[in-house]
Amino acid sequence: MKTQCRICQSEDTLVIKQIQSPHFNKTFDLYNCRQCTSRFFIEKDKKILSELYEKLAVNTAYINLEFKLNPYWSHQKEIITKLYRGRIKSVLDVGCRTGDFLMHFDTNTIREGVELSKQQAEVTNKRGVKVYQDFLENIEFSRTYDVVSAYAILEHLVDPEAFLKKLNSLVEKKGLLVILIPTFQCFKEKILNILNVQWHMYSPPEHLNFYSKKFLDDYLTKNGFVLVKRYYSSGGIFNPFKKFPLLGKVFGKIMFYYDQTPANKVPIFDHLYCYYKKL
Ligand SMILES: [Zn+2]
Repeated sequence: MKTQCRICQSEDTLVIKQIQSPHFNKTFDLYNCRQCTSRFFIEKDKKILSELYEKLAVNTAYINLEFKLNPYWSHQKEIITKLYRGRIKSVLDVGCRTGDFLMHFDTNTIREGVELSKQQAEVTNKRGVKVYQDFLENIEFSRTYDVVSAYAILEHLVDPEAFLKKLNSLVEKKGLLVILIPTFQCFKEKILNILNVQWHMYSPPEHLNFYSKKFLDDYLTKNGFVLVKRYYSSGGIFNPFKKFPLLGKVFGKIMFYYDQTPANKVPIFDHLYCYYKKL
């Protein structure tokens, strides 16, 4: 039986590699879809997924009630504000964690978040931001938003189709949809592949989906969006040197400025930022 692409549902797929999970003693088939050129892993065992997320939720060090503006989210807000060209009246952040991004908008803005983790949703709530603690596709929203964002969420989804359908329907006309995903369509993945080193983003079953640019662009164009900005970065929310104060600070600074140079249009690094406008 043919394996269906979890991203576009085509059956024109083939296994291209075996990948060892960093989380469990298990190898996964990495599939390539010839139709949409995306890649994916299959994990049908929901118990393994819930075990994994319980394991990951143990790390609560980042949960801190005290909120501070930070350069990463300030930079994102700046990009979005420039692209939106007007006063942003409402923002929905899907996978909002502790609400940090939303907190960068003032209280005159409607700020709402979606977060599966109970602990993180509670922190967001205590910060005065409305939060839905459920799967996006299960929530009944009463409005649309000027900005809808999903930073580092799409790669985790068990059902990308239902999620994407709901996500794009929540964007107001002339509004923006912001997506950050890991991309294999970059030099970094290709070089690691040549060196036979496993790309750290291939981390099943935590990361299940690797969308091609073609799929995202085609899908969103069909749904009335146009791509207005795209760039690549080596990091973003996750700084690999965070544990080492000085190195972490230097790395963060370098990447912060790198992100703002024209070099970021070249697919060197593996974090892909896309900004789509709804017509
Ligand atoms: Zn596909």
